[in-house]
Amino acid sequence: MLTKTKIYLSSPHMGGSEQKYVAEAFNTNWIAPLGPNVDGFEKDIENYLGEQVHAAVLSSGTAAIHLALEVLGVSKGDEVLCQSFTFSASANPILYQGATPVFIDSEPETWNMSPELLEIAIKDRIEKYKKPKAIIAVHLYGMPYKSREINAIAKKYEIPVVEDSAEALGSTYFGKPCGTLSDIGILSFNGNKIITTSGGGAFIAANEAYKKRAIYLSTQARDNAPHYQHSSVGFNYRMSNVLAGIGRGQMEVLDDRVAARRKNHEFYKEQLSHFDNIEFLEEPEGFYSNRWLTCIKTSSYELREEIRSVLLKEDIESRPLWKPMHMQPVFENCLHFTNGTSEDLFSKGLCLPSGSNLDIKDLKRITYLISKIPQL
Ligand SMILES: *Cc1c(COP(=O)(O)O)cnc(C)c1O
Repeated sequence: MLTKTKIYLSSPHMGGSEQKYVAEAFNTNWIAPLGPNVDGFEKDIENYLGEQVHAAVLSSGTAAIHLALEVLGVSKGDEVLCQSFTFSASANPILYQGATPVFIDSEPETWNMSPELLEIAIKDRIEKYKKPKAIIAVHLYGMPYKSREINAIAKKYEIPVVEDSAEALGSTYFGKPCGTLSDIGILSFNGNKIITTSGGGAFIAANEAYKKRAIYLSTQARDNAPHYQHSSVGFNYRMSNVLAGIGRGQMEVLDDRVAARRKNHEFYKEQLSHFDNIEFLEEPEGFYSNRWLTCIKTSSYELREEIRSVLLKEDIESRPLWKPMHMQPVFENCLHFTNGTSEDLFSKGLCLPSGSNLDIKDLKRITYLISKIPQL
């Protein structure tokens, strides 16, 4: 009997040379949060992102956001403006710092932070003597946010921007790589991301002093002394040399992974965009998305749920778009500036299987099942 295998939303996809780098770590006994793979992986990322980029690899993307806030001096009682339409890891580090998130809704062209609402929020907070200490903007699903507009507002009010590029390695904005568009960028190498080290992340900055500070903080903040001397609170956030070996192998195939995910997106669009009640997120001029996940916006919650359940019955994983942070119980009491965009996307949007290891048979099966839904 023919058994169909489960199709995942986004699963790891090894390139081939990861094990060689991992074996090197074992053969040379660099089984520690430092070593040649850590240095090599950082070099690979820096080469990929371009000149004057400094990268520190860490245990997770969340750790990178936490250190970004720490480096920018966010502390107890401060307010931080954060995109509401995102994964909770964008916002949780604000709470780790004892600071308070203020959530900003999205605009419909990129589904990311609305520059308009951002400025309204900044003015409001300044009026109330609560000038925000930082802005966290997110390139969600790989689509760049409106960086020029956001940066212009940030500059006008002199507030630094943390660029959550966890989902957007390989995306570019007017030719410039996501992760390098603001003061500090972060990447994630979690298992579901475009490349993975099983778990991991990176802190990215043009300012080399920021990188040094991030590494110092991520390795328990040891001062320069023969004994253990500490003048700051440190963290244990450095990436292991074993996992960095996976990262080196993955960097060799990153361009292929972007191409494969973009191809998935094209296929879905070809097969499904003629349905009036399914919409795709288009790239505005100058925006280049890695299409980490292909997302559709349907015409109703009911239709979205119908598609999701039809796929689920066939053991195909799909997922509603991120539930906005301002709707999450954990952030219930947080101030937010909203316009309905993210709530609408949350109720009608769906992420389709998007792994770079999907084959054409998988994609055909998925689009066939969707096409047969009578409500379309
Ligand atoms: C995955 C993700 C993170 C967190 O990265 P981890 O490596 O899983 O800690 C942060 N922000 C966004 C938008 C993400 O998708």
